[in-house]
Amino acid sequence: MNKDKFYTLPVLNYGYKDLEPHISEEQLKIHHQKHHQAYVDGANNILMDINNADLKKLAFQIGGYKLHSLFWNNLAPAGARKPAGKLAEYIEKDFGGFDNFKEKFNKAALSVEGSGWAVLAYDKEIDRTLIMQIEKHNVNIYPALEILMVLDMFEHAYYIDYKNEKGKYIDAFWNIVNWEEANKRLKI
Ligand code: FE
Repeated sequence: MNKDKFYTLPVLNYGYKDLEPHISEEQLKIHHQKHHQAYVDGANNILMDINNADLKKLAFQIGGYKLHSLFWNNLAPAGARKPAGKLAEYIEKDFGGFDNFKEKFNKAALSVEGSGWAVLAYDKEIDRTLIMQIEKHNVNIYPALEILMVLDMFEHAYYIDYKNEKGKYIDAFWNIVNWEEANKRLKI
């Protein structure tokens, strides 16, 4: 088996305690080591028998794998509170300011049907940023848009820390966004 052809769990750029008090060590550890790992294994297992693959399941596993990898990197301990660089200009232009953007993003996150993600993406063709509301890991995705920032709205992302209060989890998220990283992903 050529290991390069399979997914591996990425190492976090920070320690498990470093996102506290917004995300606890226990919550982050289980999310990374158990849930993200499950998508690594799920995708690899299907890839090992690709000729008999259930492609819908593979889309879910790969989607889960990729979105979590993006998510860890767009979080940072004591992240900046406001968007950085060019991205700040796009948020101003496309949403009429950061507060409006936050309100729309929060709404998208809160109203994800079942499990899913709130996502900020960029469409080169119309030169604007857009909010996506992904169901599961692979439904409602706008193809070919660049993903700038994601927020995991699966219950497994917040249940230990916030129980059913997902609004509190979303509020906490804004304290640990790595805006530098989101700005770096914006390739204009
Ligand atoms: Fe997750």
